[in-house]
Amino acid sequence: MALNRESFPKSVTIYEVGPRDGLQNESIILKTSDKIELVNLLLKAGLPAVEIGSFVRPDLIPALADSNEVAVGLKPLLKSNRLVALVPNMKGLDRALEAGVREVAVIASATESFARANLNNSVQGSLEIFRPVIEQALLAGLNVRGYISMCYGDPWEGKVAPDKVTQVAERLFEYGISELSLGDTIGVATPGDVISLLDSLESVGIARNKLAVHFHDTYGQALSNTLVSLQEGISIVDASIGGLGGCPFAKSATGNLSTEDLVWQLHGLGIQTGVNFEGLIEISKWLSQVVGLKIKSKTAIALGADKVNS
Ligand code: MG
Repeated sequence: MALNRESFPKSVTIYEVGPRDGLQNESIILKTSDKIELVNLLLKAGLPAVEIGSFVRPDLIPALADSNEVAVGLKPLLKSNRLVALVPNMKGLDRALEAGVREVAVIASATESFARANLNNSVQGSLEIFRPVIEQALLAGLNVRGYISMCYGDPWEGKVAPDKVTQVAERLFEYGISELSLGDTIGVATPGDVISLLDSLESVGIARNKLAVHFHDTYGQALSNTLVSLQEGISIVDASIGGLGGCPFAKSATGNLSTEDLVWQLHGLGIQTGVNFEGLIEISKWLSQVVGLKIKSKTAIALGADKVNS
């Protein structure tokens, strides 16, 4: 059967989460200067959006405790590039604004169990905390990206019904987010689940051009889920350089979809990304051979990025 090219977008925006979501779940903690270098290299490789850190209380996520210094180190780039930082509350927003960050992100949960575990609140309670944060960020002229975690499955509650996600999504858009990333935090979604969720969101009028997908490869479904998302009209895909970031809720070391594997697939389909594939492989080599992180990208490993003196 011939490939139906009409069903794919002409270009895809890759939203790079490695410096935040990736490093947050690695056992090696990078030096501040290496984090700044990583963001610089990612921008140089053509990535149009990079998440640089998190303004949570520093003792809660030691790997990202220096996000303020990272943002300050990137100050000359903050105005002209899409560099995003997570903020959990008003205090985080204040710190992000002080550091000169121009776009922030909030992470909501689709399930009560994860909201309790990660946000120490109920789903509704955490949304009530995010509301003024989003409003204040908008007043300060910032864009706000929303995330919803556990969109398909949850380690405590099992399968998650699409309408639970849709209810949270409606609130976040009401509060003023400009883009929403749908997180498969434990990596259990299959393509059918993805279509069901996108249909559910469409049924309440949420446009697909405001949605991003965020897959984890824990069960080996990340690229299949991405492909079906593209066919369903999604054109923003989250990914992590080197596949950095294990899965905090599974024994598997495989977490985030790797940026290299994603770009390999997209370019193979003739979809434009603006990203230099070889540049990404060089970054993975540096992360593996100089910084000492374990690379999980299949394409980077195939090209020897995990080998010393390759
Ligand atoms: Mg992730």
